[in-house]
Amino acid sequence: MNEHSLLAPLLMETLLTDTTSTDQVCMQLALQLAYLAAQAGEVPVGAIVVKDGVIIGRGSNAPIGTHDPTAHAEISAMRDAAQHLGNYRLVNCTLYVTLEPCAMCAGAIQHARIAKLVYGASDPKTGACGSVINLMAEPKLNHHTEMIGGVLATECGMVLSAFFKQRRQNKNQ
Ligand SMILES: [Zn+2]
Repeated sequence: MNEHSLLAPLLMETLLTDTTSTDQVCMQLALQLAYLAAQAGEVPVGAIVVKDGVIIGRGSNAPIGTHDPTAHAEISAMRDAAQHLGNYRLVNCTLYVTLEPCAMCAGAIQHARIAKLVYGASDPKTGACGSVINLMAEPKLNHHTEMIGGVLATECGMVLSAFFKQRRQNKNQ
């Protein structure tokens, strides 16, 4: 909670002064959580949930350390936000994530009724928001989340490529 409120004034100020860069500011904060994942030896993906200019959920990718295949950054951030709100539906919330969500996360985003999804880098291997399939645009699914991709895509992708490069080097030593 304290961490949330520390970041909130900065974010609120940005939201009030320049709406065009709000997505980039929020993605920077998600990137910080991706760096935390990398430090823990996890594939670096980070996510935050924002409601009314306040961060209410944060998540770092952590399936290895938690022995939990569902511990993707988006799921953790949405769990955190749902606990904060005391509600399983995250109405009027925006989810920022550094990598295009997979099918599991895209499904959870729809179950949570996330209003808007903003992601950074595309994921040509498991991306379910346009790269492999697009669950967000499936007319047979009844909830439709507004979606923006490619925000700070270069930075978000570089964190991942640097991580995998380092891991390859470590294996070759
Ligand atoms: Zn996922």
